[in-house]
Amino acid sequence: MDSFKTKPPIVIAIDGTSASGKSTNARRVAKALNFIYVDTGAMYRTLSWYCLQHKIDVEYERAVAGACTKWKPALECVDGEVHLTVGGYYPAAEIRTGEVSAAVPHVAAVPKVRAWMKKKQRECIRFGDLVMEGRDIGTNVFPETDFKYYLDAHLEERSRRRAAEGVQENLAARDLRDSQRAAAPLMVALGAKVINNSQMSAEETSALILQDIKARLKRDLNG
Ligand code: C5P
Repeated sequence: MDSFKTKPPIVIAIDGTSASGKSTNARRVAKALNFIYVDTGAMYRTLSWYCLQHKIDVEYERAVAGACTKWKPALECVDGEVHLTVGGYYPAAEIRTGEVSAAVPHVAAVPKVRAWMKKKQRECIRFGDLVMEGRDIGTNVFPETDFKYYLDAHLEERSRRRAAEGVQENLAARDLRDSQRAAAPLMVALGAKVINNSQMSAEETSALILQDIKARLKRDLNG
């Protein structure tokens, strides 16, 4: 009977600091493996945008937690990417503003928000094998996965990358907030492969991740 069992979906967890190349590399890896890409930062950003739209004070924990019970978003898979939509709308551009970037670490620190997000993010496996990027995927959302990567780069290099995208932001302040919160802080997951890509291109970083994934998959197949 065992031969009829279907294998559970594979989850590749890519965590790391802000502007460490998570999105670029997670997208590249997902494309190479034909897996679904999930940007969990975009989910926290969407809730932050919703709070700002509804004049909810993002520094008032109870109000933010209350937003999770009120809003009715949906998970959708579009062209190999999972989006959290609100009223059928995905605010792709709106969630990248400076205002949302400043609000999101406050929203993401609320324990009820994290519990809500974790449930939604785990639901994503209904779409198939995943490459999921964020801050707590390997430690909290899918701690059971064997595929954990942690990306980092020097602060100057990360700030340079953001500036090249036309965004001036205090990345150190956001990282500090993300690492110091009590609920699922940003940290290296046990067993994660840490990659400092300060001196590496996206091609080199994603090739390293893919090489490691393939080696692990081969090991699994060979028992
Ligand atoms: O990855 P991105 O910069 O879009 O993430 C925005 C913010 O969302 C992070 O700074 C963090 O506060 C929050 N976040 C999180 N956990 C995740 C993904 C993002 O707390 N898994």
